[in-house]
Amino acid sequence: MKVKKENCYDLIVLGGGAGGLSTAAGAARLGIRTMLIERGRLGGDCLWVGCVPSKTLLHEADKMRDMREMFIGSSKGAGELMKDFDKNEYFKIALKRVKAVQSAIAVHDSSERFEQLGVHVVAGKGEFTSKKIIKVIGADGVAELYKFKKCVIATGSRPFVPEIFASVKYETNETIWDIAKLPESMTVIGGGSVGIEIATAFANFGTKVTMVQREKRLMSKEEPQVGDFMRATLETMGVKIYTNTNIKNVTYNEESQVKVVFDLLDDKGNVMREERVLSEVIFVSTGRKYNTALGLEAAKVSYSGKGIEINDYLETSNKKVYAIGDVNGKMLFTHAAGYQAKAVLQNMLMPKIFNFLKKKSLPEAFPWVTYTYPEVAHVGAYTRDLELKKIYYKQYITKLESVDRARTSETHEDGYIQILVGKKSKILGVTIVSPMAGELITEWTLAMQHGLPVEAIYNTVHAYPTLSELNPRGTFEHMQQKLNSPFIFILKYLFKIF
Ligand SMILES: Cc1cc2nc3c(=O)[nH]c(=O)nc-3n(C[C@H](O)[C@H](O)[C@H](O)COP(=O)(O)OP(=O)(O)OC[C@H]3O[C@@H](n4cnc5c(N)ncnc54)[C@H](O)[C@@H]3O)c2cc1C
Repeated sequence: MKVKKENCYDLIVLGGGAGGLSTAAGAARLGIRTMLIERGRLGGDCLWVGCVPSKTLLHEADKMRDMREMFIGSSKGAGELMKDFDKNEYFKIALKRVKAVQSAIAVHDSSERFEQLGVHVVAGKGEFTSKKIIKVIGADGVAELYKFKKCVIATGSRPFVPEIFASVKYETNETIWDIAKLPESMTVIGGGSVGIEIATAFANFGTKVTMVQREKRLMSKEEPQVGDFMRATLETMGVKIYTNTNIKNVTYNEESQVKVVFDLLDDKGNVMREERVLSEVIFVSTGRKYNTALGLEAAKVSYSGKGIEINDYLETSNKKVYAIGDVNGKMLFTHAAGYQAKAVLQNMLMPKIFNFLKKKSLPEAFPWVTYTYPEVAHVGAYTRDLELKKIYYKQYITKLESVDRARTSETHEDGYIQILVGKKSKILGVTIVSPMAGELITEWTLAMQHGLPVEAIYNTVHAYPTLSELNPRGTFEHMQQKLNSPFIFILKYLFKIF
């Protein structure tokens, strides 16, 4: 089959999720003849099965938590006052709200809007047939060939579910939003950010949640104290947690409940005892797989189980093809896909001699947030990275209760900020555990991106009373230590004399 003349594009974007949509819109604004291929719904994981439904559900579940907390201290108690409250009905309303939010956002991602921007949107599954040609198979099974000068792959990722779950019906982030009713009980497999967000939401709605985590801690990529903090927080919500486990089999019992049987291990990996959990529903969040079934061999694009291989500038082994977002396996976040969409446009336009102007696949400072209650936000290095690389650092931890707004808003529980400071007051890494931590981390990201020292945060005026005062508060101990410097000593001496 020959490629029709009208099917030749300057740029073809494969995948219409967060990364693909931003790339296509940006390219069209630059006047580049652009085509976008999407096999499902424009908007991708973030809109349909990721960030948007999860954050909406968490918000609705937070209202239930607030309601319960409102009754604490009353003579009747929360249980008595809420006994007539139909949590199932409320859960249905929450799911409806999820759909409403998705529909509202979907307008921005619609094919009509993209066609208006000048992007030709094609529905179908795309796969490479050569280094410059993509075949698209539409819903009707008809195939069409398209030729590109440059191509950006943004096909994302999907849940990785181990074989052991194959014999039962399980939920993942792709299915949970259509669940028929609020389950009485749920087992969440995996204690990373997706598992913890789902456990938080369902526990707040009133489901009896059990979490089974393979690693020794929850959120094992974060600082150890974050995992311990999160464990304590979830346990306060009534979540039963098992860590350091090895799942042995997953079946149904006679009452059609899912039975998960696992070994509990000690620190050395020896079996301590066998445990079993029964529940109505099982939610599997054990990692991600990359959408690389795209005929990449024909395009001479290298990939592995860790995603499509890219260099620092998002280029694949085929110099006309780039890979952005989840599919390159670097950072699985919507804002990573968005950043890389901007970067790929800049890099694509730069001839090789301007390599120094090209943007890296990730910025100097890259933040992320887990939307539990309280939120966990992080940017920069962890203590383990610095120790491994033998980089000098000092660690400062300041409790959230030192901020008045945390008290006025009754959010002072146990949150904190941890700051890692290097030589010359360089900000190396920050972790915040607090309500709105995701908003608070941006100030640190800005400072780190622009090479500003700790003093920049200390000297910035923060309105009183705001939670953002936690940021300068977190610098106090470091600044106090600077008061012991020889320069300050001389100033104090001169003050006494004159
Ligand atoms: C439960 C959950 C919650 C999350 N919450 C957050 C959050 O709060 N904040 C955050 O930053 N990130 C969050 N994420 C991660 C975020 O959703 C992803 O990082 C983001 O969607 C990646 O965007 P992308 O463009 O790379 O891929 P996607 O959004 O997955 O888009 C890829 C698109 O490519 C299409 N596609 C795939 N193969 C083909 C093909 N052969 N032909 C045509 N089209 C194809 C797919 O249909 C899809 O629409 C969350 C993820 C999950 C699972």
